Amino acid sequence: MSQNAWIKLALLANGISLTPEFVDWFRDTDGFVQRRDFYNSPNWGPTAAPAPPQELRLSGESSVIVAVNDYGQTRWRLTWAEDTGPVVVSEMLPEGRAVELLKNPGALNSNPEIARVSNLYGGSALAFFSPRACYFFAEGTGCRFCSLEGTARESNEYAGRLTYDEVRNAVASVVADDSKAINQVMIVGGNERDLDRGFRNQLKLVHAASDALAEAGLTDDVSVHLVAMPPRDLQIIDGLGDIPNVHAGFDLEAWNPERFAAVAPGKHADYGQRAILTALERLRDVVGPYRAHSILIAGLEPAESTLDGAGKLAAEGISPIINAYHSDRHSALGLSIRPTYRHLSEVASGLQELHDTYPIQPYWKGCGRNAMDFEASHGMFHGPVPQFG
Ligand code: SF4
Repeated sequence: MSQNAWIKLALLANGISLTPEFVDWFRDTDGFVQRRDFYNSPNWGPTAAPAPPQELRLSGESSVIVAVNDYGQTRWRLTWAEDTGPVVVSEMLPEGRAVELLKNPGALNSNPEIARVSNLYGGSALAFFSPRACYFFAEGTGCRFCSLEGTARESNEYAGRLTYDEVRNAVASVVADDSKAINQVMIVGGNERDLDRGFRNQLKLVHAASDALAEAGLTDDVSVHLVAMPPRDLQIIDGLGDIPNVHAGFDLEAWNPERFAAVAPGKHADYGQRAILTALERLRDVVGPYRAHSILIAGLEPAESTLDGAGKLAAEGISPIINAYHSDRHSALGLSIRPTYRHLSEVASGLQELHDTYPIQPYWKGCGRNAMDFEASHGMFHGPVPQFG
């Protein structure tokens, strides 16, 4: 069995640093996806440094996508040489591991307007982020792992709020150029104070993506995914029932109620964990079992708590999404906390058991750069844990 999924966990736990050889080569090479900080910024090097890649593909028997998060550690490094190309090296590996870099669809490269409103996430999801602000920050209650406010202030070349036409045109252009360029569209964003109005706006963007895909005859091939705060009026969720091939999620972030309150103080004060769970049940009934999702962040609470939550969600027909905590500049938590490889492995092994038990669907279809669900859905966390940390 390939060790790619375990190497991914090691890279998520430790981050990966870029050697000067890689930086020089990547800066002078066109065509690969460069990091674009739409809503988060996980690279702690000098901000004037050339943009790194967003993700790597560990290819081979079971290929996986992993984020390039540079926390300044040197245990795992991305380097380059003439005879090898880009390679991951570490004293934990017997030899360098060749990796692939990802390429943007042509429309994203050639059309600045499409690049202003969308991003290729994980090599196969066309991602839209709107609104690029969240009212929790204005109230000092932003989620403590979230770097949206500082990231939006630092990189202002992206659209702040998207329209139906912008999303529809971007999806249409990307798939017209290459009908196999993407396998999902992601709509995600911050929040406005009027959660009902905010959710209705998100619904319009979901319709925009879905309409463009229907026009291109790609409804069955490309799914549309929404993550948002739930509306206060749960009937508004029913609007998702009209949309084919849709997945949607309301994120819990942490399962333990005290950790939820500490990690997501705005969600705790303004909506509440119990109410999010009630909204998730409504969502499941609207979009169908296991097409409703919720993120739990591995590393922000004990592994058994994350797994307890994932198990409870799965038993209710809600697919848990397990993301490894990534330390973003501008977030309140930053590098003050880092999950270890051992921690992530424990979560991954437990998640594997849940995937073996329930028909959990991964939210990201192979492109979840910080997530471990796709790997678990393909049985990549079976067996003993390799010693990578
Ligand atoms: S709800 Fe939390 S994670 Fe989402 S944008 Fe607001 S502060 Fe960030």
